[in-house]
Amino acid sequence: MTSIKTGPRVLLKRLREVMAESLGAQEKLDKIVDHIAANMVAEVCSVYILRSNDVLELYATKGLNPKAVHEVSLKVGEGLVGTIAASARPLNIQDAQSHPSFALLPETGEELFNSFMGVPILRAGCSLGVLVVQNKVKRIYREEEIEALETTAMVLAELIASGDLKGLGATANELDINRPRTIRGYSFANGIGIGDVVLHAPRVVVKNLFNEDVEFENQRLFQALDKLRISIDKMFERSELIQHGEAGEVLDAYRMFANDKGWVRRMIEAVRNGLTAEAAVEKVQSDHQARLQRVSDPYIRDRMSDFDDLAHRLLRELVGDDQISRQGPQSTKDTRSRDQGQKIIVVARNMAAAELLDYSKENIGGLVLEDGGSTSHVVIVAKALGIPVVGRAAGIITNVENGDEVIIDGEEGLAFLRPSGDIRLSYMDKVHFHAERQRKYEKLRDLEAISLDGTKISLQMNAGLLVDLPQLKAFGADGIGLFRTELQFMVSASFPRPGQQEQLYRKVLDEASGMPVTFRTIDVGGDKVLPYLRSVHEENPALGWRAVRLALDRPGLLKSQIRALLKAASGRDLSVMLPMITEVHEIRRARLIIEHEIEVLKKFGYELPRNFSLGAMIEVPSILYQLDELMMEVDFISVGSNDLFQFMMASDRNNMIIADRFDPVGRPFVRALRSIAQAARRHNKKLSLCGDFAERPMGALVLLALGYQSISMSAASIGLIKSMIRKLDITKLRKTLMPAIDEIDGGQTLRELLKDFIDSNGITY
Ligand code: PEP
Ligand code: MG
Repeated sequence: MTSIKTGPRVLLKRLREVMAESLGAQEKLDKIVDHIAANMVAEVCSVYILRSNDVLELYATKGLNPKAVHEVSLKVGEGLVGTIAASARPLNIQDAQSHPSFALLPETGEELFNSFMGVPILRAGCSLGVLVVQNKVKRIYREEEIEALETTAMVLAELIASGDLKGLGATANELDINRPRTIRGYSFANGIGIGDVVLHAPRVVVKNLFNEDVEFENQRLFQALDKLRISIDKMFERSELIQHGEAGEVLDAYRMFANDKGWVRRMIEAVRNGLTAEAAVEKVQSDHQARLQRVSDPYIRDRMSDFDDLAHRLLRELVGDDQISRQGPQSTKDTRSRDQGQKIIVVARNMAAAELLDYSKENIGGLVLEDGGSTSHVVIVAKALGIPVVGRAAGIITNVENGDEVIIDGEEGLAFLRPSGDIRLSYMDKVHFHAERQRKYEKLRDLEAISLDGTKISLQMNAGLLVDLPQLKAFGADGIGLFRTELQFMVSASFPRPGQQEQLYRKVLDEASGMPVTFRTIDVGGDKVLPYLRSVHEENPALGWRAVRLALDRPGLLKSQIRALLKAASGRDLSVMLPMITEVHEIRRARLIIEHEIEVLKKFGYELPRNFSLGAMIEVPSILYQLDELMMEVDFISVGSNDLFQFMMASDRNNMIIADRFDPVGRPFVRALRSIAQAARRHNKKLSLCGDFAERPMGALVLLALGYQSISMSAASIGLIKSMIRKLDITKLRKTLMPAIDEIDGGQTLRELLKDFIDSNGITY
């Protein structure tokens, strides 16, 4: 029966000796599997290492047919070994062949062995390979045995990461950690970025894996934990967040984690198995990161990221500054990259929005986040700055060094590390093409968006931060069709005071110098969480307590915002619109609050805005069935197509899996947009649309055909849409599109029809 013969400490000592010997890589691996098998009294010990193309190759074995080494392989996800690599979780099976995932490799002779224990070889939560022991007798391995095998796997992770194995296996340089690599993440913000990596947070490099003295390492671990707890308490006392009552929750969670018994116990266990304190922290952190990558609930991910951050802090306590690969925002101010005009690509696990603003805007060519959500604050700010973002790029942090070249494709969600010449050339071409097009649009900047048949379209931009404002003139926008006021709240560490709000709104109006601006009242709640406002855990935050629902329940927030807007717009025009209107009475209630604020300011002798207009966003399908009542309550409406589409089609706007499943220029959505336009005409109300639909050429064509004469989009898209409008005969387009909207199946899709129209009318953009 298998047991740990001499204990994991002795095994680690042996492995350390092997690592120090001047042996070839294969010999080292062979000795390592021999020692593990002997120590764990296993009849088999095998190492599978992940090569490119998701293939796990058998690199060494004790007990299986030696001829199978470098000959057999499994795909990630295939068989037991592939399952372990894919899930980054251990498997412990009494009768391997009856397991549903079992895939026999006849060349290895493994059918003789029944029990099977395999652990992932992890680095920063990513599987680099799989380490397996097997026995003939049917048994379940004990918890300590799994722990011991996991600890041993760390040594192999080190060996792989050191690059020592790169001469082995089918393709000689695949294990070279400096080879070009492509990391697939998600598209968080469009655009292409080429530049040198700057790791946002210093990375701790653990150099000493093996401990000499368990007691000593335990003491180091406990001292570091004490210091960590004290530093969190200090943070807790200092933080201005605490002055806002509920905000202490975040720090409370940190405190709770720092005292988490399970976390500490797992680290002590790893030290007992022979690791140094820092290697123990890294091991537990790596297991944790592996789990983090499989969690999709944003709330739980956030909590788990807090844990991850804590482990980083603990590592820093343990290794001090000398083992930190440091290059934060400060040092980028004078990097080589900037001198040579090369941009930087900031790589971070996650970061606060304000931290991104610490980098100089001109310097940043892109952002890659290992974690984070597509609607996180930092992504919102990056979009505002026009920075491409790739998110959830698993393993990026461990795979890059400061100064490595990287290309990011924000459209496809790809990061090319140390790209090959071909990739670089093809992306240079794209960047060049992009720049050419932008130059073409610049020439149109001061021209009007007038169609061939003489319709003037107002092209406005969406904004939300001060950094957006220069774009108003730079891109030739006709105004701001959507000012997302919540962004100021989301990027601040504490509640923006009324005076600060007023100051921002005044600057926006000043910058617009008479052009129309539409301020949307705060749209927070749901997944747009403010750290200083009590967040309620909701199963479906997008359908939850957000936007005007929250504003009406907490009128203090709305009142102070309205007052700030009224003061900022004194003597000028003020347009305010309400998000997520679901029933018409919500507008009436909001109007009462606004009228009350107007009365208060009047009473105190403030000069009021010259004109005040109130509008509603159409982004909840229920309002499509109250259009006439709605029109009677408002001065204008604006369609929030991002939300309206997601709610109509029951299709989460942040879910990449279904991102392209339903067509926004399909008949159901186009019919809804048509009803809105017809109702606005019936009631002679101003109409606009301010979601992403307006900036896509096909979307814009639909809107123009339906009679929308004002649309709002990201500033960078204005040139493209303007260029298209100036080549377009809207009357002709309308005649082509309108009859097709009501067609019942069988014919062309509207997209096909629009494409034909574009091709046959020489419309370019
Ligand atoms: C929309 O929903 O289309 C919209 C413009 O608002 P947001 O994207 O801020 O939800
Ligand atoms: Mg919306």
